[in-house]
Parts: sequence; structure tokens; C-alpha cells
Amino acid sequence: MKKDFDVVVIGAGFGGLYMMHKLRELGFSAQVVEMGDGVGGTWFWNRYPGARVDVESIEYSFSFSKEIEQEWTWTELMPEQAEIERYINFVADRLDLRRHIKFQTRVTAMTYDEANATWLVETDRGDRWIAPFVVTAVGCLSAPLEPAIEGLKDFKGVALYTNRFPKGGFDFTGKRVAVVGTGSSGVQTIPVVAKQAAHLTVFQRSAAYTRPANNRMLRAGELDALKADYANIRARQLASPAGALRFGAVSLESPSTQKILETPKAERLRRLKEEGWAAPAAWADVMVDMKANDAARELYGELVRGAVKDPETAEALIPHYPLGCKRQILDTGYFDTFNRDNVSLVNLRNDPIQRITPSGIDTEKRKFEFDVIVFSTGFDAMTGALNRIDITGRGGQRLRDLWQSQGPRTYLGLQSHGFPNLFTITGPGSPSVHSNMIVSIEQHVRWIGDCLAYLRDKGLRSMEANIDVQEAWVAETAAIVAGRINVSDSCNSWYLGANVPGKIRVYMPYDAGVPAYRNRCDEIARNDYKGFTLS
Ligand code: NAP
Repeated sequence: MKKDFDVVVIGAGFGGLYMMHKLRELGFSAQVVEMGDGVGGTWFWNRYPGARVDVESIEYSFSFSKEIEQEWTWTELMPEQAEIERYINFVADRLDLRRHIKFQTRVTAMTYDEANATWLVETDRGDRWIAPFVVTAVGCLSAPLEPAIEGLKDFKGVALYTNRFPKGGFDFTGKRVAVVGTGSSGVQTIPVVAKQAAHLTVFQRSAAYTRPANNRMLRAGELDALKADYANIRARQLASPAGALRFGAVSLESPSTQKILETPKAERLRRLKEEGWAAPAAWADVMVDMKANDAARELYGELVRGAVKDPETAEALIPHYPLGCKRQILDTGYFDTFNRDNVSLVNLRNDPIQRITPSGIDTEKRKFEFDVIVFSTGFDAMTGALNRIDITGRGGQRLRDLWQSQGPRTYLGLQSHGFPNLFTITGPGSPSVHSNMIVSIEQHVRWIGDCLAYLRDKGLRSMEANIDVQEAWVAETAAIVAGRINVSDSCNSWYLGANVPGKIRVYMPYDAGVPAYRNRCDEIARNDYKGFTLS
């Protein structure tokens, strides 16, 4: 059998880098391919002003190297993009990983050769590599979505996208700026842009559920104490359903058991006063009972009204859809930004965008002129990056055709029937985006590494998820969230693919929690990869 490498790894973000390290440790030859000209994945592309992680640095970092844990110095509780990019570059250098990466290269096609049990991997730079195994580490939020707005290409000013922001940054000083989109990226960038721009106009289709990040610099001695406690922190992370101890200031380790519908109004308001922005979501029934959710939304509305001075703007900033439908956001000064004289809000629910013009944006009722438009309009999440590669499996089946017609179908989120020897890190059907990504990445990398070593030791050359276990897994993934608010008809999130026109509506993450998921994966490995056909 001819081969160039044992494994091709696609992507040099957190997942791809650790996979490369693990493979090298296990004695496999591997090639990493990366579209960007640097490492970092998400943290390479999303370098917009205000970009910041919403998990604490000490937890949003690799646990596999005790040396790196001790050597790296975090400065902030929840660092901004630049610090995380520096960290991941430090890791790449410390582990000498760059020599295995081909940068500025995009994988265009992958074709499985059944007779030889190998993949042919083709790139836009003319590479044609043969490798028995491919691991995709392409990220869950990495396929930028072009907003479906007429005249997008007509704008003569500067059009910027948060999901591929210019490397040198952008100076908004003195500029008339629009931001379109108020998801996590928009909410993070709006306060920062507002401080620079002459005027900022925010175009909002759906208001955001957000709350203050309460980020801060780490205090003198604090990092040392955390570093000394790493073993305990990592163990608690592994035991936590989200793979993280906290989301902002809120503990994820002991979720509330109190129900909002069983709590008198006066008591709800007392908790709101005491707990502030954490209070609306902190009830056991909010994600499972629409009436409870309405009550939580009412509490949230009170907070927005208290934070935003102009009553009309405040009302527009209160979401019209249930709490928990979309990803909750941590912000830094978001609502206060709308109290600034140089910021205005356009509520697209009353006045939709008609088109982008050469000089700005026309809504149904008004015409706006801008020097710069920043689009923070999201991603084709979880499946987009894979579907943009021409992946042809056994018997000539295309992954894209299958997934576009049926939704993503995987076993454990790690493999798809019909596509032997192809593994996905944090794929649909795994906890991925509903967990601390680094914890889930590390778990997948270890599982895949162990699996490849097992195949090698047993003299096996191919591994494929069986159709029956895959279909059962897809059904289980759906059953876990059945009846929950975030899959109800009134929710339209990227978790469901609802932000992409024509995308089949399927809830993609596996939501039983990180420990339960890890136990399942480990049990399958212990049982000689039960559910997979090995040959
Ligand atoms: P997003 O959550 O999908 O938000 C996109 C925004 O653009 C939404 O407000 C959407 O409105 C709006 N939009 C889309 N098309 C539009 C159009 N044609 N006209 C007007 N508005 C339009 O994308 P994102 O903000 O980039 O975030 C994606 C995910 O990345 C997050 O949920 C999060 O998981 C991750 N992320 C995390 C962080 C962090 O915490 N550190 C930061 C950034 C991103 P509708 O809601 O009405 O569709």
C-alpha cells in the first residue's frame, strides 16, 4: 500500500495541534493542513475588536502538558483574542509543531479508496496525499456565512467581517460605522467599536440575551495559586457537565433546583435585585417549561429597562424569543453602549434591511450612509466546514449529499457510516459547542489516538461506524433534548441549523453532558470499539 503519511490532520487550531502532538508521540507520521497563515483556528480568524473567550483562561487551556500549564502566564480571567492567539502560538513552538503544518492551504477534496483502505487528500496547492487515516479538526464555527442581503457587493466603503477580521486590526476613529448582527460576535465588538467611531448604528434582527462578563485582570499571586491547584481544577472540570466550572461568574457545578413558577413574584424580584443578570436563567424549569421561560424573560426585560435610558431602545433590546434558544452571551458594557450619544439602534423587526447600497444601507423606512459596515452575521455551524470539502466515501457517496438531505449522521460525533478511517474532532453528535471546547477536544484527540494505536497493534487497517449504532446515536442525540425549550418551534438557532437558508433542522450537539459522553466513548473503546467494523 502506497502512503505519504499515516494520518492527514485538517486544521491547526486547538484540535489539530494537539492531534498532531499526540500522533507524533504515538509514532505516527502526520501532515497538518491549515487555511490560515498561522495557528489558532477560531482564534486566528476571529480577531475583531472585543473578541474574548467566555470560559476562564485557567480552564480554557490544554491540560495534557503539566509543563505548559506551569510555563504559560495568563493575565486575564477571560482573555481577549490576542492573548489566546499568543498562547496557542506558544504551544505550537514549545512542542515544535510548525514543521508538520502546511499553511495557507485548503483541502478541496478527499476520496476513499476502498481497495487500499486509504484516503486521497487533495489541496488547492496541488497536493495529492495518500494516507490511511484522516482527522478533521476544522472547527464548529469556522465556515463564515454570507448574509443574505441584496447588494452586498455594491458597498463602496469598507466591508468587514468579524469572522475574518483583518490581521492588522482596523481604526474606526472618526468613521460612520454600521454593525449588522447581534450574536456573540456583534455583542462583543459593538462596545469597542462605539468608543472609536464617530457614530455607530447597530442593525439588530434578534435581540441578544447577554450578561456582564465581569472580566478582570488576574490579581498578584492569583495565577500562582491556581497553577498550584491545577490537578483539582482539571478533575472538577472533567466531572462537570459542561467541562467548565464557571460561565462568567456563575457556577456550573451546582445548578439551581428552585423553580421560577413555584416562586412568588416578590421573591423572584428579590433574587433579581440580589443576583442581577445571572438571575433570569438561574431556575430549574426555565429550559423545560415555556411559562417558566416567559417569567424568566420578564425578569430579563426588567434588567434591560433598568440599564438602557431610552425606553424605545430598551424595548427593542428585549428579546422576543425564549431565553436559552440561542447561545447565552457574556458582554463587556453592552447595554451601556446604547446610552452613548454616538450610538443608535435600528430594530429590523420593525424596519427590515432592504439592500446594501454603494454608500450604506437602505431599510424599508430609511436610508443610512456609512464609511464602514461590520458584518457579524455568523457561521454555517458544525457541518459547514466539512460540507465545503468534497468528501467521497465508500461506494462514491458524498458526505455533503447525505448530510444536506438528512442532517449530520454520526456515531459519537466521531465517525460517519460510509466514511471509514475518517475521524472528526468535536463533530455533530458530540458535546462540542455545548461544552468547554478544549476539554472536548482533548477527550476526542486522546480517544482517536488510542484508537489508531489499537488498530496498528492489532494489524487492522480500516474502521467504520456501523449504520445501526449510528442511527441509534442520532435518535439518542435528538431524544436527549426532546421537549426542551431550545428545540421548540419558537427557537431558531445555529445549533438547529436555522440560520442557514435551506439547512435541515436538526439539533446537532450531544447534550447528555461531558462526563456521560466520555464514559460512553471509553466503554466502547474498552469493548474493542463495539459498534464499529474493524478489518
Ligand atoms: P450568530 O450568533 O449566528 O449571530 C449572527 C447575528 O447576525 C444574529 O444576530 C443574526 O440575527 C444576525 N444576522 C444574520 N444574518 C442577518 C441578516 N441577513 N440581516 C440582519 N441580521 C442578520 O453568530 P456569531 O455572533 O458570530 O456567534 C456564533 C457563535 O460563535 C456564538 O453563538 C458562540 O458560540 C461563538 N462565539 C463565541 C464567542 C465567545 O463567547 N467568546 C464570541 C463570538 C462567537 P438572527 O439571530 O435574527 O438570525
